[in-house]
Amino acid sequence: MPSFLGNQRNNMSRLTHVLDFDNSNHSCVYLMTKSFRIYNNYTLNEAINFAETKGLSLSIYIIQPHEENPKNIEYFKNMISDLSENLGKFSDEVSFKLREEVSESLFDSVQAIFIDKMYLRFDLDFYEKIKAISYKNKINLFTVEANVFVPVMIASNKEEYSAKTIRNKINSKLSSYRDECLTGHKLTKAEKESFEVLTDFLQNKLSFYHLHNDPSLNYTSLLSPYLKFGFISPVSIYNRSIHLKSENLDDFLEELIVRRELAYNFVYYNPTYDDFNYLTYDWAYRTMNHHLKDNRKYIYTKEDYVNFRTHDPYFNAAMKEMIYLGRMHSYMRMYWCKKIIEWSRTYEEAYTIAIELNNHYFLDGLTPNGYAGVAWCFGKHDRAWTERDIFGKLRYMNANGLERKFDIAEYVRKINLLGKEE
Ligand SMILES: Cc1cc2nc3c(=O)[nH]c(=O)nc-3n(C[C@H](O)[C@H](O)[C@H](O)COP(=O)(O)OP(=O)(O)OC[C@H]3O[C@@H](n4cnc5c(N)ncnc54)[C@H](O)[C@@H]3O)c2cc1C
Repeated sequence: MPSFLGNQRNNMSRLTHVLDFDNSNHSCVYLMTKSFRIYNNYTLNEAINFAETKGLSLSIYIIQPHEENPKNIEYFKNMISDLSENLGKFSDEVSFKLREEVSESLFDSVQAIFIDKMYLRFDLDFYEKIKAISYKNKINLFTVEANVFVPVMIASNKEEYSAKTIRNKINSKLSSYRDECLTGHKLTKAEKESFEVLTDFLQNKLSFYHLHNDPSLNYTSLLSPYLKFGFISPVSIYNRSIHLKSENLDDFLEELIVRRELAYNFVYYNPTYDDFNYLTYDWAYRTMNHHLKDNRKYIYTKEDYVNFRTHDPYFNAAMKEMIYLGRMHSYMRMYWCKKIIEWSRTYEEAYTIAIELNNHYFLDGLTPNGYAGVAWCFGKHDRAWTERDIFGKLRYMNANGLERKFDIAEYVRKINLLGKEE
């Protein structure tokens, strides 16, 4: 793809020149906020090209991501333990910073700041702070969409209704964004582990991916935390899998690219993506209003959930998976959130509980996928189904379905073993 050179406002680029100043200072800064990798780090690549072309020094600041759960911070720090050292070959100065440590004084004599493009509110707050510093000090500011396959605004210029409406828009552009960069360096610990998890998936699980919905089996890739922290790019995953002759490849790429980037489309074009009153469709609000007063046989609180105190062994097992492992099987995530809807006094209360648990306990939480996944349970990106109590026209899921489709007792058995290991 075109890079910075001579190409300041190329519409097809991952790069956006947000603030453009005539500034002849001698250094350039990369604020690494979402792509904690070197391999296929498009932002780092742009910053290096810019610094080299202009003869500037390059400083890299690794910025700790926003997390609510100390376990996630611990995981992140452990995974990036050798990142500074590996970045040393690109930069005279590499250091780790908390968001609150980033202030104007860091940007003395800086000509340009490069930052990974961010999409969620807590990230945008940090970005706005950087933008204000850049503006005040007349520093050029560049953002790079390094963690999606197709830059969000290029994939589509509006909020999309569903996977169906965005699929071709994304898939038709993949060949333009397949290029790799910064490929010839020693892999960091996080990069190595990401590629190992990917290789294990491609060699041992992809051929069973048609069974990936079954919670008693483990045929999903487990790549979501690596994607979240940008330890691996979706482009790297695509390039390593596209030549494989597997009937399941399209299904996997549908999740990795179409569903994931539909989530980015959602949070980018819908500034109220996390406001219960404005995140889903009119038909969904109408049906929820209609069923608001329906009798709820069970009402549980967040405390009941985190202490595994519901009457439903499948739900309790899913909560254990969430709390013990920081993840949940993808099918159980749907069931889990649907049950919270069924067992809450109001839909809004259900939304708040689901988002809070999602963002706190999942290692892959606090991502566009999390917001889109929970919103999906309230009808977003979905369609109206047959009318039911409490759910109205929202898609309904129940324990009988789990029992009919899967060996769900096996899922519970496996998860309960985990509990005993704790
Ligand atoms: C209520 C609910 C909450 C969810 N919360 C999160 C979350 O916090 N973080 C998160 O990353 N995903 C979330 N998802 C989406 C999905 O369940 C997870 O991405 C998936 O379970 C991760 O496991 P995996 O990497 O093994 O998936 P795989 O099946 O191997 O899929 C590969 C990749 O595709 C992407 N993907 C898969 N399914 C979806 C989907 N439905 N929507 C968007 N992208 C998808 C993920 O990046 C995933 O890593 C949620 C879904 C629901 C219904």
